[in-house]
Amino acid sequence: MSRLGSKERIRQFLLSNIGRVIESAEIQEAAGGAVQYSRRLRELREEEGWKILSHNDSAGLRPGQYRLIETPPEKLPPKFERGISARLRAEVLDRNGFTCQMCGLTPGEIDPVTNRPVRLHIGHIKDKSLGGKDELSNRRALCSSCNQGAKNITGEKATTIWLLSQIRRARQDEQRAVYRWLGKKFGPNDV
Ligand SMILES: [Zn+2]
Repeated sequence: MSRLGSKERIRQFLLSNIGRVIESAEIQEAAGGAVQYSRRLRELREEEGWKILSHNDSAGLRPGQYRLIETPPEKLPPKFERGISARLRAEVLDRNGFTCQMCGLTPGEIDPVTNRPVRLHIGHIKDKSLGGKDELSNRRALCSSCNQGAKNITGEKATTIWLLSQIRRARQDEQRAVYRWLGKKFGPNDV
């Protein structure tokens, strides 16, 4: 019996199945039994930038199916924001659905600003310079560039009318980029 931990086993199983649709039962088996495999997958996506798709990302996948779409980046040393406990970090990321609360990017997607896989940070809702506190209620998940103020997006949630107005007056190449992204998410035939 190997002494590898379940996360390491899942890592190796995924690496030997790049591009293939895998079932959650296979991941469980590879991990050596019942484990919180979805948490492990999230960690690989969130902390290491692995592009693991689920049914949330691709209409071609059913719940419980996953696909690692390409060779992941070199393993990076775990990065912790100063003063943030692992638990607070996990709570914020969970609450925010592992999605940047400004631009909507998720770990593993390529940030068009930096051209690198998205990594999420724990930012503030009300900035500390404006008296914002470090506590959970004033925290939110932000990608690196939004955390550094690079994208200039307001924190308001977009409405359909506002979104359509922005897309209608965008250039055609920008409209096509939106179309490609939606097509990738929902599949070409989903209306
Ligand atoms: Zn962002």
